Amino acid sequence: MKRDAHIHSPYCPHGTKDSFELYIEKAIQNGFTDISFTEHAPAPHGFIDSVPTQDSFLNRNSLEPYIFELQKLKKMYAKDITIKIGLEFDFIEGYEKEITQLLNDIGPTLDDSILSVHFLLNEKSYTCIDFSSHVFLDFAEQLGSIENVYSLYYKTVQNSISAELGAFKPKRIGHPSLIHKFRYAHDTLVDDHEMIVKTLQLMKEYNYELDVNSAGLAKQYCLEPYPPQAYITLAKEMGIPLVFGSDAHRAEDLHQYYKQVYNNS
Ligand SMILES: [Zn+2]
Ligand SMILES: [Zn+2]
Repeated sequence: MKRDAHIHSPYCPHGTKDSFELYIEKAIQNGFTDISFTEHAPAPHGFIDSVPTQDSFLNRNSLEPYIFELQKLKKMYAKDITIKIGLEFDFIEGYEKEITQLLNDIGPTLDDSILSVHFLLNEKSYTCIDFSSHVFLDFAEQLGSIENVYSLYYKTVQNSISAELGAFKPKRIGHPSLIHKFRYAHDTLVDDHEMIVKTLQLMKEYNYELDVNSAGLAKQYCLEPYPPQAYITLAKEMGIPLVFGSDAHRAEDLHQYYKQVYNNS
């Protein structure tokens, strides 16, 4: 099985209009046997998107057409490739009840899903830590240091792993070192070894898969996968199931760095 299980779509408000067919045909051409579309799920009820462009989440009205279109394509391409219908759900501290509701509503129609942390809570306000280096650095100033941002990030990811989110909680944790995205945009070298190891241990304990996410390699301030290669190896040694994801927001990025990430893990 050759799998890419973290792919965005023409429905992504901050992605591209590249068609599903463009992604699917490329995957088939490259010998992939199994792909998951995992668009950003709609925001949990009552959550206000704090990014300036307000485009982090799938519009609620787009959910039905997204699933409907994928159901059609899944059948159409069934002979050539397995297409899984999925979503990337946000874990947002304080919205556990609303997220559970969302999962219960949509979960039954999905084949696959990912649980990711993009928003961090500080004093009742939420910051999207992967939006831009500017937003990231501002947030670090708010928290007093880059180290504090890292600690808060891993604590939130760890809470996402142990959170009770009902029967449809995703089985896979998305890019659990996303906080490295802007590591070259500042001079602080944070030793987060223990925090990553603890996160992996929790994933193992709670039986989660790891989204081995290659997108960070393409980010100018990151230049490494999420999590870094050494931790992909460690996760494998620990017996955590690894699931490759290119996190493509355009067809061009589909399967990006697959060989590099996969062969070294
Ligand atoms: Zn996205
Ligand atoms: Zn993500």
